[in-house]
Amino acid sequence: MSTPRTLKQLDRSAEFIGRHIGPDATEQQQMLAAIGADSLDDLTAQIVPEDIRLTTEMSVGEPMAEVDALARLRAMADKNEVRNNFIGMGYYGTRVPHVIQRNVLENPGWYTAYTPYQPEIAQGRLEAILNFQQLSMDLTGMALASASLLDEATAAAEAMALAKRTSKNKKSDLFFVADDVFPHTLDVVQTRAEQLGLEIVVGAAADAAKHDVFGILLQYPNQFGAIETYQELTDAIHAKKGLVCVATDLMALTRLQAPSQWGADVVFGSAQRFGVPMGYGGPHAAFFATRDAYKRSMPGRIIGVSKDTRGKPALRMAMQTREQHIRREKANSNICTAQVLLANMASFYAVYHGPAGLKAIAERIQRLTTVVATGLAAKGLAPSNSNWFDTLTVPVSDAVAVQARADAAGINLRTDIAGSVGISLDETHKAADAALLWDVLLGDGHGLSVDDIDAQLSTPAFPERDTEFLQHAVFNRYHSETEMLRYIRKLEGKDLALNHSMISLGSCTMKLNATAEMMPVSWPEFANMHPFCPQTQAQGYKEMVDSLAEYLVSITGYDAMCMQPNSGAQGEYAGLLAIKKYQASIGQGHRDICLIPSSAHGTNPASAMLTSLKVVVVACDESGNVDMADLQAKAAEHSDNLSCIMATYPSTHGVYEEQIREICDLIHQHGGQVYMDGANMNAQVGVTSPGFIGSDVSHLNLHKTFAIPHGGGGPGMGPIGVKAHLAPFVAGHSVVKTGVASENNGAVSAAQYGSASILPISWMYTVMLGNRGLTESTQVAMLNGNYLAQELGKHYPVLYTGRNNRVAHECIIDLRPLKEATGVTEMDIAKRLNDYGFHAPTMSFPVAGTLMVEPTESESKLELDRFIEAMAMIRAEADKVGRGEWPADNNPLHNAPHTLDDIVDPSFDARPYSRELAVYPTAATRDNKFWPTVNRIDDVFGDRNLFCACVPMEAYQD
Ligand SMILES: *Cc1c(COP(=O)(O)O)cnc(C)c1O
Repeated sequence: MSTPRTLKQLDRSAEFIGRHIGPDATEQQQMLAAIGADSLDDLTAQIVPEDIRLTTEMSVGEPMAEVDALARLRAMADKNEVRNNFIGMGYYGTRVPHVIQRNVLENPGWYTAYTPYQPEIAQGRLEAILNFQQLSMDLTGMALASASLLDEATAAAEAMALAKRTSKNKKSDLFFVADDVFPHTLDVVQTRAEQLGLEIVVGAAADAAKHDVFGILLQYPNQFGAIETYQELTDAIHAKKGLVCVATDLMALTRLQAPSQWGADVVFGSAQRFGVPMGYGGPHAAFFATRDAYKRSMPGRIIGVSKDTRGKPALRMAMQTREQHIRREKANSNICTAQVLLANMASFYAVYHGPAGLKAIAERIQRLTTVVATGLAAKGLAPSNSNWFDTLTVPVSDAVAVQARADAAGINLRTDIAGSVGISLDETHKAADAALLWDVLLGDGHGLSVDDIDAQLSTPAFPERDTEFLQHAVFNRYHSETEMLRYIRKLEGKDLALNHSMISLGSCTMKLNATAEMMPVSWPEFANMHPFCPQTQAQGYKEMVDSLAEYLVSITGYDAMCMQPNSGAQGEYAGLLAIKKYQASIGQGHRDICLIPSSAHGTNPASAMLTSLKVVVVACDESGNVDMADLQAKAAEHSDNLSCIMATYPSTHGVYEEQIREICDLIHQHGGQVYMDGANMNAQVGVTSPGFIGSDVSHLNLHKTFAIPHGGGGPGMGPIGVKAHLAPFVAGHSVVKTGVASENNGAVSAAQYGSASILPISWMYTVMLGNRGLTESTQVAMLNGNYLAQELGKHYPVLYTGRNNRVAHECIIDLRPLKEATGVTEMDIAKRLNDYGFHAPTMSFPVAGTLMVEPTESESKLELDRFIEAMAMIRAEADKVGRGEWPADNNPLHNAPHTLDDIVDPSFDARPYSRELAVYPTAATRDNKFWPTVNRIDDVFGDRNLFCACVPMEAYQD
C-alpha cells in the first residue's frame, strides 16, 4: 500500500501552480538532468549573480485555489456599485453584442494572439483591424487611419506631436486648445507639451486664429454637448500653415457631418462606445485618422494591403510600422503595445450593426436626448447648449437637492461643471430614463410624459451628415447572429494563437493567460463602472488596485506603484517624467542626458525623446553585456548633465549581467537615476528585484510577466514602481485623485488607473501563484530557457551566455553563420516554422540576423521538444540547400509558408520536394495542422502601393 497523504499534501497537488507551470515534476527533473543542474535552486544559483539574490520573502502569501481567489475577488467586486450613468465625458454605456463578448473578448483564439509580426498566420486579426481603419476613415472622412492608439487623451497628445512634426509654421511652438475639450484630454496634452517645450494656450475656439500656432485642438461635439462646425476657423489656421486636430465621437459621427468636410487635418477619439465596456476607464481603442500627406508622420501601426507570392491580396503592417519604435529616437511616437483586441471588438460591432443599424442606434440616442431636453425646457430648465447629439449641460440652481435626488434614484450625473450638471445618454438608456432624469432635475410633480413629447418632437438644427459610410460589403452582410458567428470564426481560424501552439517571442513573455484570470474582466461590477463615478461607488476597484499595487511593491522592492500607464512604453514615459520632475525639485533640472545601451528595446529611446532627454548610446561588449569602460567614460563625460540610464535586466540579450550593481552605483555617483526596464521581470520575480538591485524606477509589463493576454497587439498595462524619493512625482489626474502623487502632477493616460478592468487578471495571477508559485515560475522560465538554449545550441550557435554558460529566461540563436553557409535567411526559417505549426520567435531583435526565443514557464517539455524537433529539421533542410541538393530559389524554406493553394496546384509536381514534406513535416503537424492562409507576403509591393482600406471582394476572384 502507498503511504497515505495528508489533506495538506493533497491540497498542494491541486494547486494552480501545477496548472500554470507547464513541466511537471518529472519533466523538470528530466530537463534539469539534461542541462546538468541538481535542482531549480541549484540552477538559479548558477544563473543569478550572488550579490543580487533575494534573501527575504515577498509578501504575497500562500497560493490560493482558483475558486477561492475568485471568491475573494467577487467580494471586492461586490463593493463596486454599478449605477445608471449619465456622466459621459468620453465614456458611455454600450451593449456589447453577446456574440462578440463570448467569441472575441472571452475567446483565447482572439485574446492570446500577439501583434501580427508574422502576417501569413495573422490574416484574421489583420482583417478585423483593417475593418477598424475603414470604420475610422469612413466616419471621420479622412484618407488614412491607424490600427488604434491607447486612449482619446493620449491620441490628442499624438495629434499635437504630429502637427508639430508636419506643420510648415516651423517657428511656432504654440498649440491652441479650445476650452471645451474634456479636462482629462487637456491634462494629458499639457503633460506632453511641457516635456516637448511646447506652449499651450487654452481659450474659446473662436479665438484660436488670433494666435501664431502650429496647430489647434477642437472637440466635436464639444464637452458640453454642442455641435459646431469650423470651416472659417480651419481656413484661418491653414492660412497660418497650422493643423486642425479634432477630438470626436464615432457614434455622433454617424449623424454629423464628417470633420473632413470642414477642413480637419487630424481626427481622433475613443471607439469605446462601439461595444467595449467602460471598464472603469479602459482598455478601449482610440482611433486616429489623418490626411494621406501625413502618412509618414502617423503614430502607431497601420495595416496595409499587399499581395502574396501567388498574387493573392494579403494584409500586413505597412511602412515599417511593424515596429515603428525600431526607429528609436527617430520614431514618431513610443507606441508599441496598442489596443488591438478592443479595436477588433469595435470593428465587429460595426460589422454586426452595419450602417443602418448604427444610424438607428445613434438616432435613438439623439432622439431620447431631445426628449429629455424638450421636457426640461418646457419646465424652464433649458440646457445651455442649443444643439446636441447625446449631451446636455443643464444649469441647476439647487445642486445639492439635485444630487440628493440623483443618489436616491441611483443615477450618476456629471458634476464637475460649476453651476450646471452634465447629462449624456447612450445606447443602454430607455424611455423611462428620460422620466427619471426629469424626476431628478425637476423634482416630483413635473407632469411630463415621454410619449407626449416624443410624438411632437423637433430636433434643433445641427450639421447633419450627408455622406454615406460603411458601404463596403463586410459591413453589410453579417447582421444575423449566425452569419456573425461564422465571420468571427472564419477570421479566428486564420490566426495562430496560444490555443494552438507556443509563441516563443523573446522579450514578449507569451505565458498562460488562465481562464480563471480572465473571467472577472466580464463581471458587470468591473466592466460597467464609469471611471469618473464618485469614488465611494468604486471601493471594490480601489481595494483590488491597492491590493495588486501592494503585491507589486513587495515583488519589485520599490516603495510605491503608480497604476496609470496603459502600456510598457507609457510606463517608460511616466517613469522618465518622474525622474525629470524629481531632478527639477532638487535644483538639478538641467540634467538632460539619458544613457541607453545599444541592446535596448526601441521604446526606450523613443520614450526618452518624448521627455526631451538627449539619448547617448552605450556600447555592449562581445558577450552582450554593457561595455563598462564605455559606460564609465560616457557617465564621466556627461557627469554634470547626466539624468539617467535606461537599462533592461536581465539584458535584452537574455543574460544576467554581473555588474548591474556596479552600473547602478556608477550612475548614482554621477548624480543620475536608474530606470530599469521591467519587461524582463519574468526572470526576476522571487529571485531578485529591481529595487533590491538598486534602481530607482521601472515599468512592469503586466501583459507580459503578469499574465494579461496580448490581445493581438494590446491591451496592456505598464504601471511603474518607484523608490520613495520619486513617489511624489508620478502621474496624477485632473478629474479623479488617487492619492499617490501630489495633486498637481499631470496625467499620462485618459483614466486614473489606465486600463483598470484588466488589472483583475494580474491580481488573480499573483494570488493564485503566491510566493511559492511566483518564484517557481521564474525558476522554471529559466529552466525552459536554458533547456532550449542547450538543445537548440546543438543546431545553431547561441549568441550570448552569462555566468556558468547559462542564459536567463530567453536565448538568442544566431542564424548569420547558417545564412553565410547556405543562403537561407532568418525570414525563411521564421516562415518555415509556420509550416511546422509554430509562430516564429522574435526576429532580428535585439541583433539582426538572429532569433530570440523565450519559452516561458507555461510551456511543457513536450511542447519544447516539438519546437526543438522543428528547429533541428529546419537546420537539416537548410544544410540540404547549402549542399546544393535543393536549388536556392526552390526549396521548402524559400517557398515557406505552404498553403492549401500550393497543395492543390498541379505545378507543385515540378518542385524538388514532396507535398508531405511541405505541409506535414512531422507527426505533430499531421495530428494538428495549422494552415497559413496566404503565401509569403510581398512587403515592398505593399509599401510602394500603400492601400490601407478594406479590399473589395472582387480582388479575391482570379
Ligand atoms: C515589450 C517591451 C517594451 C514595451 O512595452 P509595450 O507595452 O509594448 O509598450 C519595452 N521594453 C522591453 C524590453 C520590452 O520587451
